Amino acid sequence: MNHLPDINIIVPLYNEIENFNILTERLISIVNKSSFKIEVILVDDGSTDGSTEKIRELALKNENFHGVFLSRNFGQQIANTAGLKFSNAKDGVLIIDGDLQDPPEMIDQFYALYKEGYDVVYAVRHSRKGFLFYKLAYYLFYRIMRRFSYITIPLDSGDFSLLSRRVVDHINSMPEESRFLRGMRAWVGFKQIGLSYDREDRAKGSSKYNLLKLISLALNGIFNFSKYPIRFSMFLGLISFCISLIYFMLTLIKKIFIGDVPTGFTAILFAVIMFGGLQLIAIGIIGEYILRIFFQVKNRPLFIVKERIQNGKKVS
Ligand code: UDP
Ligand code: MG
Repeated sequence: MNHLPDINIIVPLYNEIENFNILTERLISIVNKSSFKIEVILVDDGSTDGSTEKIRELALKNENFHGVFLSRNFGQQIANTAGLKFSNAKDGVLIIDGDLQDPPEMIDQFYALYKEGYDVVYAVRHSRKGFLFYKLAYYLFYRIMRRFSYITIPLDSGDFSLLSRRVVDHINSMPEESRFLRGMRAWVGFKQIGLSYDREDRAKGSSKYNLLKLISLALNGIFNFSKYPIRFSMFLGLISFCISLIYFMLTLIKKIFIGDVPTGFTAILFAVIMFGGLQLIAIGIIGEYILRIFFQVKNRPLFIVKERIQNGKKVS
């Protein structure tokens, strides 16, 4: 079909009303002057601030904008997943944040690299604005991931990326419930390349992530793409077993050759507390895996769409 777009731009939106007008003005001007055909998929992730109505209004009057409305807030990773599921572009998709931290105007650079034969073009944050604490946390997280992951996830790259049609199809066929797109994208393979950019500050409003949500995203990355946590508990267990074995032998030797030596209460207390702690850590790590298995075997759909607008018309 010839009327299909070349590229979809996917934007997850959760209470972004303050950014909506400026975001869509910039997107409209990109769509209008672009040499290739672009259609934007705005995914409403259960907004409660009026963004939903704004998206609906725009999608009904401008055929270049689709609206996908989720039944509640599912989180950015799932919102992007929904966007990918409904993408219909021939060449691929560009995923951007809705707060203008990822300049959509960069689409030409992304597309040029795609034309050179790259299946994944991911943006790499050359610089990042924001609080020092978060900058440090992100810096450390990406380096830890790099070290521990069984696939190579590029440093300092978020969801901002262009994915070719076949990569999108492969990601769509991956049924995992706990989604860490930047890891899944790396797992798919093909030719991938980084594109450096300076990450802007969010245009308006405040981050939709609190510390807990960020930690949960980071844990998803680590537990879904690394075998180290479970190996770590085995390693701890082995080390402590060796230490206690040595300690046991020493006491035995003492007992046989020197006679009954009264052992200290402090040492016992220390051992009880330390090994109790180690066991809890190990159980916690196993628990993390069981939790993930538990959610995966439920086999629920990843999201629920309550409404969809495409080509200026309501389709569901
Ligand atoms: N977002 C979303 N659902 C959420 C949280 C965030 O769709 O539950 C969207 C948000 O509207 C924005 C993008 O994901 O378009 C990135 O979120 P945010 O800017 O809050 O993240 P940060 O840049 O602070 O990491
Ligand atoms: Mg942001």
